[in-house]
Amino acid sequence: MAILEEPIKEPLVLKNYIAGEWVESEGERVDVVNPATQKTIASVPISTKAEIDAAVEAAWEAFPEWRRTPPLARARCLFRLKELLEESFEELSRIQTMEHGKTIDESRGETRRGIENVEVATGIPSLMMGQTLEDVASGIDEYLIRQPLGVFGVICPFNFPYMVPLWFAPYAIATGNCIVMKPSSEDPISQNKIAELTEEAGIPPGVWNIVNGGRTVVSSMLDHPGIEGICFVGSTPVGRDVIYKRCGETGKRVIAMTGAKNFMLVMPDAKLDDTIASLMTSFYGNTGQRCLSGANLILVGEGLSEREYNQFYEKIVDNFVDAAARISVGYGLDTAIQMGPVRDEGKKDKIVGYIETGLEEGAKLVLDGRKPRILGGWPENAFLSASVFENVEPDMTIGREEIFGPVASVMKSRSLEEAMDMVHSNPYGNSAAIYTQSGKWAREFQYGIQAGNVGINVGIVAPMAFFPFSGMKDSFFGSLHGQGQEVIRFFTESKVVIQRWF
Ligand code: NAD
Repeated sequence: MAILEEPIKEPLVLKNYIAGEWVESEGERVDVVNPATQKTIASVPISTKAEIDAAVEAAWEAFPEWRRTPPLARARCLFRLKELLEESFEELSRIQTMEHGKTIDESRGETRRGIENVEVATGIPSLMMGQTLEDVASGIDEYLIRQPLGVFGVICPFNFPYMVPLWFAPYAIATGNCIVMKPSSEDPISQNKIAELTEEAGIPPGVWNIVNGGRTVVSSMLDHPGIEGICFVGSTPVGRDVIYKRCGETGKRVIAMTGAKNFMLVMPDAKLDDTIASLMTSFYGNTGQRCLSGANLILVGEGLSEREYNQFYEKIVDNFVDAAARISVGYGLDTAIQMGPVRDEGKKDKIVGYIETGLEEGAKLVLDGRKPRILGGWPENAFLSASVFENVEPDMTIGREEIFGPVASVMKSRSLEEAMDMVHSNPYGNSAAIYTQSGKWAREFQYGIQAGNVGINVGIVAPMAFFPFSGMKDSFFGSLHGQGQEVIRFFTESKVVIQRWF
């Protein structure tokens, strides 16, 4: 057991970053507690409406010069930011573990994915190019230019405090816009650290602002006439009923990437060991707090007799439960552990509540993670071990709703068609995966499945930075997705010019 050195020695007092200055907030403060050690590692302000107003004003002041800065010069700032993020790679990764709870390897993966978005955004001179066509009519040329709109708001979830904001921020500023970002108040430290680096990278004051806080800050952003569009990642009730609705009312552009209930299908020809290993990271990685986490496991007996199906089912469940029971739990900075705590006690209570509901509704709890064995003797507050339910039906509460914790629900199906119908009976459509060696089954699945991110023998279907991070049904509200070329379209207005010389 080796506990890596903590980069935060004393509690930090976070401020807002407005117009290139770190400014005290007038708002009350809340503590950020390390979920593994239960030590306070920072306090974060719940900022006021006046502070959002100041940030939006600073962003609009910076905008005219920033949009006139050549794209290549804007890209140079991002190249410098990338270098600074690389230099701080380990520190920032350990901060994520301290503020969120995930293991250090998970944090390092998150840091890498975040940096990749900065790298892709450095391609802005070609990503932002328009189109031209000569002679659309006799002697007339037509061309399309992509222009920035002004100021965008970025509203972040707790589960990927470093990476998710980078699905938007680098592209927003690469296209010549300015941003006001609100990190999750539950784990805001990495975003505040990144803002420090933007200053060193030469990004001008007012281009990248941070206003800390919670739902009151979000309301002020949604109502602010100076914010052209909102990028939101979080739960479905907030994304659909607050963000998407209000942006519609106020005429703002919106990307709202929301909740999930992801199904993993295992076919009879799946490779056992590789499949089980992949399912473990899918269901229990990030302690189940991923929008791409596996939630429902369907064992599909396509083409099998009753007896063969029972054998196949038992083999997969036995191996799955055995592997889940062996996942070690503890502090994410301990290199020996495989699963950290959930973000806080409130989230743990909610997950335990789902486990109790599952029992009440008749599901069979074959692995109970409610009393975890914690390596290192850390306070039990936010820790859970892996849980597995059998006999789950898609319409049970635990089969239908997003639990967002280390709980797997096993379901039975005798055909691929029936299994896909089970997936489609769920309101969410974030991701889905199939484990098979059959090209035919894989093709049938990817063609018909209603999910934005589809895995074939891949359990965490995280699109690379140069592909959109998709989502369907109750997992996405808006028209363009985060990351890559699509988000460039989101952050720009197409202007068409028709030119004729007399
Ligand atoms: P959340 O909806 O509670 O919070 C998200 C953001 O909205 C936070 O910044 C929070 O301060 C703010 N907020 C919360 N309640 C609000 C309200 N009533 N009014 C206005 N603003 C409010 O989500 P979370 O718990 O931070 O994140 C987890 C959720 O995010 C899960 O549902 C997960 O599936 C989802 N998620 C989705 C994706 C995706 O790509 N689809 C990615 C990551 C996380």
